[in-house]
Amino acid sequence: MERVGLHTSDYIALERQYGANNYKPLDVVLERGEGIWVWDVEGKQYLDFLSAYSAVNQGHAHPRIYRALVQQAQKLPLTSRAFRNDQLPLLASELCELTGYERMLPMNSGAEAVETALKIARKWGYMVKGVPEGQAEIIACSGNFQGRTISIISFSDSEQYRTGFGPFTPGFKIVPYGDAAALEAAITPNTVAFSVEPIQGEGGVIVPPEGYLRAVREICTRHNVLLLTDEIQSGLGRTGKLLATHWEVVRADIVTIGKALSGGFYPVSAVLADSAVMNVITPGDHGSTFGGNPLAAAVAREALAVLVEENLIDNARKMGDYLMDRLRQIDSPHVKEVRGRGLLIGVELHPSAGGARRFCEALMEQGLLCKETHDNVIRFAPPLVIDRDDLDWALARIEPVLMMN
Ligand SMILES: *Cc1c(COP(=O)(O)O)cnc(C)c1O
Repeated sequence: MERVGLHTSDYIALERQYGANNYKPLDVVLERGEGIWVWDVEGKQYLDFLSAYSAVNQGHAHPRIYRALVQQAQKLPLTSRAFRNDQLPLLASELCELTGYERMLPMNSGAEAVETALKIARKWGYMVKGVPEGQAEIIACSGNFQGRTISIISFSDSEQYRTGFGPFTPGFKIVPYGDAAALEAAITPNTVAFSVEPIQGEGGVIVPPEGYLRAVREICTRHNVLLLTDEIQSGLGRTGKLLATHWEVVRADIVTIGKALSGGFYPVSAVLADSAVMNVITPGDHGSTFGGNPLAAAVAREALAVLVEENLIDNARKMGDYLMDRLRQIDSPHVKEVRGRGLLIGVELHPSAGGARRFCEALMEQGLLCKETHDNVIRFAPPLVIDRDDLDWALARIEPVLMMN
């Protein structure tokens, strides 16, 4: 096939022919992005209302993060952890100062950060809590999404994520999300950790009942169980707080972050904990060739600086309140519920609406990109740099689409 002058259909055909079939993307082929906007290969402009699942909180191609990336790429992109580099210590100190944890462990993807947190929790269970070797239990929640590795899907309750991938890693239990009493009932002397998303993103933007996070914090403390919060999607400003647990003034023992730590440029994730927990890991226990590389560290440092210095966390809260308010005023027969926090918003449709996908496709036609999660929820999660005029632009397209037959 001729490789110049390709159109949307040509790119889709190539991907269909040569790519693994593990995604079902909207049929838009993007080639450029700036702030909240992206452009496809035909030159059509779209407002990005997904932000790469919250990995682009700072907006596409942010000039400051771009400069940090290029400068570091010119100097030194990779050392491995066999040697030290001059960026990782700065990221570690800046991230710990920002989040109030004593230590961080850098990885690359979100799933790797979650795996790391599980390993730390298990080792803490054996070394500190005194759980008999091989007996550690970790409790997770129904409807969770924490990544795609075999151990992580071992505690998923989604048939689709699991079917065909067994046998699974033992040592996990599932309790209903949002039910603190169920957590307490499931805890045994061998329970080392409770893993929870403060808001379930992939699960359909599920906000637990008020007081849930405070209650699970108290239960974990009382039973000497680590509270492990997965803030890979909900963290770094998305919900209008630095971490979504801050809404209930809760501090977890282990936190995973990722996605927006990348500034939308370069995969980087991290695990946060205090020394009493993190120090169970000693040299050789765990690592990654690319984890903590200077390019990732330089990008993450700038991504965090932009988040703070541009007041994106505050903006997420203000714009989120406005967007949620306006969405709730839309009197559509299809809408069952509008829920969320900050700029992580789910619009749940009635089963009779015919699925969220057709609404996402109609919005794409109107120049607004978003994605269904599960069958009946449209997730709205624009970059946190968005302002009120742009939300009004989006609402002028969302309203008629939600009203369509
Ligand atoms: C996206 C996500 C992950 C997995 O991150 P990857 O970078 O895709 O591996 C884990 N937990 C939550 C809550 C997520 O939203």
